[in-house]
Amino acid sequence: MDYDAIVIGGSYAGLSAALQLARARRRVLVIDAGERRNRFASSSHGFLGQDGCAPGVIVAESREQLLHYPAVTGDAGPALSAGRMEAGFTIGTGEGALTGDRVILAIGITDSLPDVPGLSERWGRSIFHCPYCHAPRPAPAGLWADDVLSQWHLRARHGATGRAGAVGRRPRAYPRCAHHRGAG
Ligand SMILES: Cc1cc2nc3c(=O)[nH]c(=O)nc-3n(C[C@H](O)[C@H](O)[C@H](O)COP(=O)(O)OP(=O)(O)OC[C@H]3O[C@@H](n4cnc5c(N)ncnc54)[C@H](O)[C@@H]3O)c2cc1C
Repeated sequence: MDYDAIVIGGSYAGLSAALQLARARRRVLVIDAGERRNRFASSSHGFLGQDGCAPGVIVAESREQLLHYPAVTGDAGPALSAGRMEAGFTIGTGEGALTGDRVILAIGITDSLPDVPGLSERWGRSIFHCPYCHAPRPAPAGLWADDVLSQWHLRARHGATGRAGAVGRRPRAYPRCAHHRGAG
């Protein structure tokens, strides 16, 4: 077997899983296609110790720390296929097939945006799905809330009603990342 575990998806969830496996001295491969869900946002909030930090920097630093473990390998590019063997799994990549005792799927979710003019260009920049991640902001912004959970958050956080709301509060100080100051 090439690896004890193959982690598909090398963003927050995949790197967290791989780190614990590395600490347990497992041979781990992390395969990542590099399309984090929050890649459209310049700063991240509500993540303890990283508030206001650039999401890409958080991942890059986490990946760098993880790859210090000699038993961890990182591989860029999508996993193309997965199959069950009698013992373990085989994962197809652009470089060929690799085998692992276990496979962890940490592939996240993909936001399927409705076909609204201007929405995709502003997604994660001035139109948001989550008031906890993005508010309070120094400038008015749009909030996309087209399911029950999002609308509940919107009402709880801003007292707004309806399908979409505007967020325009001016905080006294917008939280900035202490150690990545200026990154986003
Ligand atoms: C605009 C926006 C802003 C956000 N801001 C915040 C915030 O401020 N604070 C916060 O806590 N949360 C925020 N979120 C939510 C946050 O992005 C997600 O909770 C988080 O990214 C989930 O991490 P994950 O590792 O599960 O998945 P993801 O980050 O989506 O990563 C999945 C990874 O798997 C890879 N992958 C998928 N398929 C394959 C494959 N076949 N082979 C190899 N790799 C594959 C993808 O390329 C990707 O790199 C935000 C989300 C959005 C959309």
